[in-house]
Amino acid sequence: MPSCSSTKNRKRLFSEIEAHGVPLLLACDFCFQRGFECVMAENLSSKCSVCQKRGHKCVTTSWESLDRTRSEKAAAISKDLILLEEVQRRHQQEMLELTARLNRNRKVLELADARARARALQTSKQLEEEEAEEERRKQAAEATGDALPAASAAELPVDWASTGWELMGWEGLAVPDEIVEANASNSQGG
Ligand SMILES: [Zn+2]
Ligand SMILES: [Zn+2]
Repeated sequence: MPSCSSTKNRKRLFSEIEAHGVPLLLACDFCFQRGFECVMAENLSSKCSVCQKRGHKCVTTSWESLDRTRSEKAAAISKDLILLEEVQRRHQQEMLELTARLNRNRKVLELADARARARALQTSKQLEEEEAEEERRKQAAEATGDALPAASAAELPVDWASTGWELMGWEGLAVPDEIVEANASNSQGG
C-alpha cells in the first residue's frame, strides 16, 4: 500500500507532466489499450502522465499495441489516399467544366461583338445612302428652278408648254347641251 505522501507526489507529477508535456503519437501500452491520450514530458519523467500517477511501468513495446497501431494506421492511410484521389478527380472535373463554360461563353461574346460591329457598319452605310439620296432629290428640285420644298409630283404645277397642249380660250370650249342641263338639274335637286 503506497504511502499518502507518495500518492500526493504522483498526482503532483501527473499535473506537471500534463501541463508541460506533449501528447505522444505512439501511446504507451497502458494508454493505448484504454484509449487515453498519452502525455510525456521527457525532462520531467521517463513515464507518461497516466503511468506516473498510477505508479506502474510505462512501456510501448508490446507486439499487440504495435501490430494494432500498424494495421489501424495503414487502413486509415489507404482510406485517405482513396479519398484524396476522389477529391482530386472531382476538382479536376469541375475545373474542366468551368474552363469549358468560360471558353464557350467567351466565344459567344466574341461572336455577338462581331455581329454587332457588322450590324452597326451596315446601318451607318444605309443611313449614308439615304442621306445621299435626299441630297440628290434636293439638288434635282433646285435645278428645276423651284424653290419649293420637296412635293409629290401630283402637286407640282404642270408645265403646259412642255406638254405640247395649247391653251384654249373659254370660247373654244364647246360644252354639249345635255351636260349643261344635267348640271342644272343636279344643283336644283341637291
Ligand atoms: Zn501513456
Ligand atoms: Zn505510460
